[in-house]
Amino acid sequence: AGGTEGIPAEVRERHAELCQEIDDHSYRYYMQNPIISDAEYDELVAELRAIEAAHPELITQDSPTQKVGAPISVDFAAVEHRQRMESLDNAFSAEELQAWTQRASSEVPVDGYLCELKIDGLAVDLVYENGRLTTAATRGDGRVGEDITLNVRTIDAVPDRLDESVRPAPELLEVRGEVFLPEDDFKELNARLTAEGKQPFANPRNAAAGSLRQKDPRVTATRPLSMLVHGIGAHRGVEVTHQSHAYDLMRDWGLPVSDRYRVVATTAEVWDFVEYYGEHRHEPDYEIDGVVVKVDDAALQRRLGSTSRAPRWAIAYKYPPEEVTTKLVDIKVGV
Ligand code: NAD
Repeated sequence: AGGTEGIPAEVRERHAELCQEIDDHSYRYYMQNPIISDAEYDELVAELRAIEAAHPELITQDSPTQKVGAPISVDFAAVEHRQRMESLDNAFSAEELQAWTQRASSEVPVDGYLCELKIDGLAVDLVYENGRLTTAATRGDGRVGEDITLNVRTIDAVPDRLDESVRPAPELLEVRGEVFLPEDDFKELNARLTAEGKQPFANPRNAAAGSLRQKDPRVTATRPLSMLVHGIGAHRGVEVTHQSHAYDLMRDWGLPVSDRYRVVATTAEVWDFVEYYGEHRHEPDYEIDGVVVKVDDAALQRRLGSTSRAPRWAIAYKYPPEEVTTKLVDIKVGV
């Protein structure tokens, strides 16, 4: 690799500063309460990416642009995921989204995009062995997460056993999804915490994370958490041909699949989906921060593969922040 001596000192310093700052905000976001909005965080990452695009010699494995999420708390046992849990690359405009669909379809013959909502919750991995839930874990750094099995067992939407009335359960099924607190329940919980003289949560995502990462599962059980699943990791004893096929299978097994997804053929239809939920952002009873678009065909997903932190067969279109002022006030409440 080339040295970094040729790069102006102020660029190197800004790069180091951004890496540190982004890591600090990530730590707060995953382990405590965020102190800046997601949009502000995304801007810091965009600045870092721009510097690294101009000076690729600055990219190390340790850069926030190259790794997934969160540190692991010592309060929980470590669980190694069967298959790596990834993040998602972002698009912030119609042009960036179109650049992604064009690139994907120029590399492989894409014949369908699955569009769905990007739920602003907590990524969770469920392992079912012969139909029984054996572990549940947070995403952690993507390879190793935190064991939150007892806490996840308190969530009504998560079955302890897969329903085998339509088809038998596979030997192994690693399910990925999002745990969240519905908006009304979030408001109720915060009102209750305030009445009890306790600290309210900054936002529903934070409340879900705080409720799930409790040392005492009895506390988790009092929080009306819910879950929606949006992917399969490692599996044995079942063939999965498409993302939408995975959803059909999971629905039959009694897993909570959203009915707000659509498989479409063209970039224009992808954009229609994005626009619809941009205008109907509060139709679902949970917070969303964007739309996720995935190449539907599993064989094409494998051909497109992944970078060090995200699949190349999927992208998250992020909506602009709704009302920055509300967001900032919300965040202050949690500090
Ligand atoms: P991400 O949240 O942008 O995207 C990846 C995650 O999206 C996945 O892990 C998955 O669990 C989730 N997801 C939700 N719906 C999904 C669906 N339908 N299909 C697939 N995945 C779905 O990326 P990230 O790496 O988890 O976190 C980065 C983001 O977190 C930032 O862009 C920012 O918004 C926020 N953040 C904010 C702060 C802060 O201080 N405010 C700090 C760190 C991170």
